[in-house]
Amino acid sequence: MRIDILTLFPAMFTGPLTESILQRASLLRTDGESVANIHDDKPLQIVLHDLRAFGAGRYRQVDDKPYGGGAGMVLKVDVVVPAMEAIIACGKGKPHCISFSPRGKRLTQPRVERIARKYDRLLLLCGHYEGIDQRVLDGGWVDEEVSIGDYVLTGGELPAMVLIDAVARQIPGVLGKEESSQQESFSRALHRKREYPHYTRPEEFRNLRVPDVLLSGHHADIERWRRSQLY
Ligand code: SAM
Repeated sequence: MRIDILTLFPAMFTGPLTESILQRASLLRTDGESVANIHDDKPLQIVLHDLRAFGAGRYRQVDDKPYGGGAGMVLKVDVVVPAMEAIIACGKGKPHCISFSPRGKRLTQPRVERIARKYDRLLLLCGHYEGIDQRVLDGGWVDEEVSIGDYVLTGGELPAMVLIDAVARQIPGVLGKEESSQQESFSRALHRKREYPHYTRPEEFRNLRVPDVLLSGHHADIERWRRSQLY
């Protein structure tokens, strides 16, 4: 899967996307230039685009005051849309475009699985300040508006990282063991419920014992106990 990210803060992505499991992704930073040297051998290719590079005038303006007044700035439609069009033009096939907003549909595990299954190219649009001019959505440039919860963050960068992490786990070759994304909380295998608790050695720690059934070696009983712990 290839994921293009349009953001005012590309540097925010470097840490989260280069550590842990996501280091199996290839990460490329561009400043509006073409992205020819993307590594096709990685299961996940991430390309960062700085929205500022598409800004207008000497100061590369990307935002302006809201019509109707009020605090905060709004990302400009005549900057965001040409930037999206340039990104779409520099890759193969039209990406599924996701924008982030508290007004969007909640990101759930079924939504994550659907995105991973259906699309091999995503374009993530990170809002900032008061948000993005509504005409970017009304004009049909965005396919899906996603919220990661009922609270307000400063920008769409953290929601984009959350989505990438969750989607990446569903892509073959990103996780070490394929089955580790199958038997997890909210997975179909666990009937969309929360997972059972886990224990490892030692058997006892300060009077806290591992449940006997897990030490019994009786697979059917262990399976029954684990199912009883789902909620
Ligand atoms: N004015 C907006 C409102 O009241 O709903 C909040 C804008 S917020 C300060 C700036 C940006 O952060 C949004 O455009 C969006 O991209 C992102 N954002 C904030 N909270 C979010 C959430 N819960 N889910 C997804 N994106 C969020």
